[in-house]
Amino acid sequence: MIIILKDTATPEQIGELRDAMTARGLVVQDIIGEEKHMMGLAGDTSSVSDEGLERYNFVDRVVKVSEPYKLSGRHFHPEDTTVNVPGGVSVGAGNFAVIAGPCSIESEEQILSIARDVKRSGATMLRGGAFKPRSSPYSFQGLGLDGLDLLKIAREKTGLPIVTELMSNEYLAEFERDVDVIQIGARNMQNFSLLREVGELGKPVLLKRGPSSTIEELLMAADYILVGGKSSVILCERGIRTFETATRNTLDVSAVPVLKKKSHLPVLVDPSHGTGYWDLVYPMALASVAAGADGLIIEVHDRPEFALCDGQQSITPVLFDQLMRSIRAVRGAVKEN
Ligand code: PEP
Ligand code: MN
Repeated sequence: MIIILKDTATPEQIGELRDAMTARGLVVQDIIGEEKHMMGLAGDTSSVSDEGLERYNFVDRVVKVSEPYKLSGRHFHPEDTTVNVPGGVSVGAGNFAVIAGPCSIESEEQILSIARDVKRSGATMLRGGAFKPRSSPYSFQGLGLDGLDLLKIAREKTGLPIVTELMSNEYLAEFERDVDVIQIGARNMQNFSLLREVGELGKPVLLKRGPSSTIEELLMAADYILVGGKSSVILCERGIRTFETATRNTLDVSAVPVLKKKSHLPVLVDPSHGTGYWDLVYPMALASVAAGADGLIIEVHDRPEFALCDGQQSITPVLFDQLMRSIRAVRGAVKEN
């Protein structure tokens, strides 16, 4: 952290600030330029707020040097992290994951049929919402714990690990016991108490980027989960809100290389929610692979026109199969170069 002082700062004021910072255990280094007097602070500056320092009327501004996230950042952890999912699936550090399945679990027949199809095409995990975060309280809210039971049946029949969203702390125990990867949805990315609680479960967590969140905020949210030292995190870009209305969200493909540069955690992309249209899923999935994503999460429905949720952005098992072939081709081409 660097404090830039105003020209009007007196030696007494500078001395007062230096004493206050030293008293907090920080090492203070004066940097005296031709025009400006600055103070460099080294040590644990987490208890020093820039807003607090800017209240000194002789402080011009404060510049933060280190990132506000530590555990998810590459600085202290340069190697890529591999997240191990129960059932023998790994994500990250060269392990590519494809999570596929319906937006919501609707019936045993539906989830089993889709699970078998996506498995045959090469999906590595099965998704399906049991608790759905719907914008309208009148829309289908998911089958709840009954849905989770159906997802478990699909895991048993196909061997695919299951990924599903936890919306509140009410069902922490059930998710800890039954779910292989706990999804924290975009709307809950900054539900800090929920993040801390899933961080205690010792499970892989798929953390989706909030629709209005910056990359820095996503990484700070990941730190909330990692701070417990038990759970692991997979990041997911799923589109952000912009002025554009031609798509449901604007898929920030550049978030992939940016996140890979800043963080050691695996990065997945959700081109289904990221675009909102089934015919955009295929090109944006391939763009994400080319951009270096460690995997994808894709909504697949056997009868999208009858889906209870997000049918407009769901692809059919036939198109998913074609997409999987193209993904393998793009991954091969990326590896060769
Ligand atoms: C989902 O994956 O089902 C979902 C609701 O996604 P998001 O939280 O990204 O909107
Ligand atoms: Mn959905």
